[in-house]
Amino acid sequence: MRRPIVAGNWKMHGSRGENARLIEEILGGYPANAGADCVVCPPSVYLQEVGRMLRDSPIALGAQDTCADAHGAFTGEVSAGMLKDVGCKYVLVGHSERRLIYRESDQLVARKFAAAHAKGLIPVLCVGEQLSDREASRTEEVVGRQLDVVLELCGPEVLGQGVVAYEPVWAIGTGRTASPQQAQDVHAFIRARIASRDARIAAGTRILYGGSVKAGNAAELFGMPDVDGGLIGGASLKADEFLAILAAAGPG
Ligand code: PEP
Repeated sequence: MRRPIVAGNWKMHGSRGENARLIEEILGGYPANAGADCVVCPPSVYLQEVGRMLRDSPIALGAQDTCADAHGAFTGEVSAGMLKDVGCKYVLVGHSERRLIYRESDQLVARKFAAAHAKGLIPVLCVGEQLSDREASRTEEVVGRQLDVVLELCGPEVLGQGVVAYEPVWAIGTGRTASPQQAQDVHAFIRARIASRDARIAAGTRILYGGSVKAGNAAELFGMPDVDGGLIGGASLKADEFLAILAAAGPG
């Protein structure tokens, strides 16, 4: 039985005041017996402060990215060990904004996944195709390649201790979500790809959907058999939307 996860990716939004209000509202409306794990990923500069607000709460702290290297002359970077040190449990790696804007390669993303795992974090591997890939029927080729590089470097055992997030790039921040069937098809493909290495691990790996998930479409998406919750961008900045998405993932 895979327990669903709802993770909020705040991206580069917020301020100390806004974060405090958002966390207060989320905790104020948090269900007594949530049926899903919940994570919030603030910008790195706010991790420690948000972590303090979440202390003794059921919400876990996540970071949006990590450096692949452990320490050294990497100006501006934050290592997985540092994220662990300030209380993170999860870290996103390979978000499409990192892959596309900052030109992160599949190999670098795989090294980040390995570095996060080595420091005891739960890496959330983001994969997904661009619109041009989908239109050229290359979705499985692209997503398969992004997954294989991590499987090659880390092996299925380590991959399965992390989380995979399928995020079609054309659905991120666009208001255009994948249909539940489109999401299910790719999630089933990802699970089968992992199963070709290890069926037991594939069956237990949590695969989240991300891309314009809202309170209004979450239940349908999360109702698909291989969709184990969601990675939520814009809607994670509104407490009522985020809590409704959490409820859709796992009725308490
Ligand atoms: C994301 O940034 O991971 C994301 C899914 O964004 P949105 O929900 O805004 O599409």
